[in-house]
Amino acid sequence: MIITRLSYGKDLISETERVCEEKRIKTGWFIVIGALKNLTYGFYDQNLREYKRISYKRHCEITSCTGNVSILDNKIFVHAHINFADKDGNVKGGHFFSGEIFAAEILIFDYKDTLTREFDKETNLKLWKI
Ligand code: ZN
Repeated sequence: MIITRLSYGKDLISETERVCEEKRIKTGWFIVIGALKNLTYGFYDQNLREYKRISYKRHCEITSCTGNVSILDNKIFVHAHINFADKDGNVKGGHFFSGEIFAAEILIFDYKDTLTREFDKETNLKLWKI
């Protein structure tokens, strides 16, 4: 298990991947709290089988961010979802693409086996090979 703080100004997804590489975590689960300066999140349209991307260019609180780590194309890949609150306490969320860190505290649980992702034709997503 790893507990650390991610760097100010960096992208939360890239920073999580960097920490996993540094700590040699190929598969795991994580949770994050903190604050972002702006982010891109989205919704997977199950009929169109594609993501709708939404940009949020304001400061916000991460009320919940959770995700997993696995291997895609021989590289560490982070899949995360996020809920965040604006200054009035309104919460939005969805699939988390990217977000510039103001502050981020992360807890990563590593898993002894390695899970890899592969293309799944039913969903058009790269899902865990099980
Ligand atoms: Zn997702």
